[in-house]
Amino acid sequence: MIPNDTIIALATPSGAGAIAVIRISGSNAIALASDYFKSIRGKNLIDQKTHTIHLGHIVEDKRVMDEVLVSIFKGPHSYTGENVVEISCHGSPYIQQQIIQLFLRNGCRTADAGEFTLRAFLNGKLDLSQAEAVADLIASDNEASHQIAIQQMRGGFSNEIKTLREELLNFASLIELELDFSEEDVEFADRSQFKELLQRIQTVLKGLIDSFAVGNVIKNGIPVAIVGEPNVGKSTLLNALLNEERAIVSDVAGTTRDTIEDEISIGGIGFRFIDTAGIRETQDVVESIGIRRTFEKIAQAHVVLYLVDGWQLTAAGAMDTLKNEIEKIKNKFPLKSIVLLINKLDRLTEDQLSMFKEKLPDDDKRQTTLFISAKTKEGVADLENKLLQFVNTGALRNNETIVTNTRHYNALLKALEEIEKVQFGMDEELPSDLMAIDVREALYHLGLITGQVTNDELLGNIFSNFCIGK
Ligand code: GDP
Repeated sequence: MIPNDTIIALATPSGAGAIAVIRISGSNAIALASDYFKSIRGKNLIDQKTHTIHLGHIVEDKRVMDEVLVSIFKGPHSYTGENVVEISCHGSPYIQQQIIQLFLRNGCRTADAGEFTLRAFLNGKLDLSQAEAVADLIASDNEASHQIAIQQMRGGFSNEIKTLREELLNFASLIELELDFSEEDVEFADRSQFKELLQRIQTVLKGLIDSFAVGNVIKNGIPVAIVGEPNVGKSTLLNALLNEERAIVSDVAGTTRDTIEDEISIGGIGFRFIDTAGIRETQDVVESIGIRRTFEKIAQAHVVLYLVDGWQLTAAGAMDTLKNEIEKIKNKFPLKSIVLLINKLDRLTEDQLSMFKEKLPDDDKRQTTLFISAKTKEGVADLENKLLQFVNTGALRNNETIVTNTRHYNALLKALEEIEKVQFGMDEELPSDLMAIDVREALYHLGLITGQVTNDELLGNIFSNFCIGK
């Protein structure tokens, strides 16, 4: 199953750069490279030690293509576990292609997406969840997602699963043994120890499953909906948070017709801000589409920022309308947190402020009120702190394992389901052969996470999502 042909790909992004790295892996990698590499010092690559770097030229038929640095790694002590050569050349796309074409003409083939990492997996350098973490690491764009990916790549999560699986496997073989001696009615597997193990596995699985809620939002960014009537300052607030002029700011009511999404990092956590049209009832067709979308966006959001223009709040009846609208959102979305933002603080007088503080709805578990000026950025830092409080960063700080991968999450759910069936079987004193089936199922699902159980389709799905050259 392990391929032995030699693959090549550009490991750095395509396009021009100062340098580019071309990676070759396979049993012939070093021999092939040595055919076209002329070392400055006249060294032959084949005779060089592993993990060494050499300066020289890539030459074909006396034509010098580039001056390069060549690093060699001899299997099994390399990323893929095979012989690996990395050529650092000058970053012109022309040079990159010339060198790659040279090797393609002479025995290499183009690597598929993720094929280097696939080989690392097949050669036992990484397990499956570690390999997946490599892709997450490349995709990580904030401190939290980076930390989770690094931790997973280093194997914390895999080891936890592997240890539990091994213990379960031991018990499974004892139970299977009982089946072989079924005539004699013996029990090799100590039932109370088994119960204790099942309990422990259940606790670990539940913890990991729960962590997915945090992990998933951290990986994808925490969705925050910015809601409010036209002209209250939604785009200005978004710009203040984004620190750039991305959303459209204008004085004409209803200009933010479409939704705009942008992700920014606050305190190392990614937040996805969704700017939306107001929820005010309207006759305008385009606007009403925007309003429907507002509710859709709130449905997807973790937190709702409800923005009002403080200046307009002084108008007769405005306070009651506001309370109504907040109630509407609260009733429609009973689980969402709401931050009521009174904007344009820079235009408000002390008297107005104290009047608001008296009349505004009281803060409760789900709702907080903040006074801000999107224009002068006063209070924007308080808002950022508030947003961070909505994220359970405790697990991150404590270095607990956090599951971010949907495939792992589904496998954990299935494994837990089977473990619960086994527990039920124990309680009901069901025959061992029935329990053995459920134990095998649990083992199967746990094994899928780390790749101890695998199939071509699964590998194809995972590695085709990688970039070429990884
Ligand atoms: P949106 O329709 O809710 O996106 O509102 P905009 O962000 O387009 O803002 C509407 C108008 O209000 C613009 O002229 C902004 O400059 C102005 N504005 C927004 N925030 C503030 C603020 O905090 N103070 C003041 N004085 N004006 C603001």
